[in-house]
Amino acid sequence: MQPDPEDASPAATSGPAGATLPDEEALLRVRGLQKIYPADAGPVEAIRDLTFDLGRGELTCLVGPSGSGKTTLLKCIAGLMSTSDGDVALGGKTITGPPKNMAVVFQEYGRSLFPWLRVGANVELPLKNAGTPRARRKELVDEALEAVGLEHVHKSYPWQLSGGMQQRVAIARAIAYQPEVLLMDEPFAAVDAQTRADLEDLIRSVWKKLGVTILFVTHDIDESVYLGQRVIMLSSSPTVIQDDIAIDLPAERTQLETRSDPRFTELRHHVYEQIQQAKQGFRPRGA
Ligand code: ADP
Ligand code: MG
Repeated sequence: MQPDPEDASPAATSGPAGATLPDEEALLRVRGLQKIYPADAGPVEAIRDLTFDLGRGELTCLVGPSGSGKTTLLKCIAGLMSTSDGDVALGGKTITGPPKNMAVVFQEYGRSLFPWLRVGANVELPLKNAGTPRARRKELVDEALEAVGLEHVHKSYPWQLSGGMQQRVAIARAIAYQPEVLLMDEPFAAVDAQTRADLEDLIRSVWKKLGVTILFVTHDIDESVYLGQRVIMLSSSPTVIQDDIAIDLPAERTQLETRSDPRFTELRHHVYEQIQQAKQGFRPRGA
């Protein structure tokens, strides 16, 4: 029997918007999250209603138009900001402040590293704060710098490094901390294209090696498809989930081969269309 051509279409991989998982598979649960900012000119409803789960060890990308509440969502998940309604839970426990087993990498690497601390000391700082013993700290810092290919700049200051290298230091700092969940907010938006491609591959290799659960926010559609096992698309503000698709590309990905795979083109096309619809205010059924 011929396979149904529908099976190969990107839409066939779409889960219901905001797919949820059984308890034993879900590490992070977002339920009915709403965020309204108070403002002088009247309240701003940045996020209307988000429900989704992140599976343990999953690498999920989140894309949405600028202003769709991606940073707001990450701050709520990271426990840096309260929600107006709904609930975010990690391992079954509602998040009320920054969870111990979570790390965040922000876009602005220039402001996220301490200029007066050497690279090694920057990476070590969260471990010191967590009370990790000195010998173990040294091991973790060395391993993390090696994982991002920066063992040779241990003693340099951040301002002596290029932008891409500084962002690798920020990634090393996050992974040295051995988080269960790693949140990344458009971390490669400010680096050149070649560095960006290298950093994308670095994230996939770190993810495979450490088995960490990653939520990677980007406005770059190609990046989301290349990196993710799954892509969640947000509508424009007030935000709901526009679509949620599985990326069924091979696990071994390379910039040249994966990006020239016809399936890659199909998937990016699908994500592009959804984002265009989101920008034009088309909302998924039931939202
Ligand atoms: P994104 O990261 O997707 O670009 P943001 O989460 O930064 O989106 O912003 C979502 C919406 O919330 C935007 O309309 C933005 O103007 C608004 N917003 C973000 N932060 C604040 C704030 N502190 N006070 C008021 N409105 C805010
Ligand atoms: Mg943002």
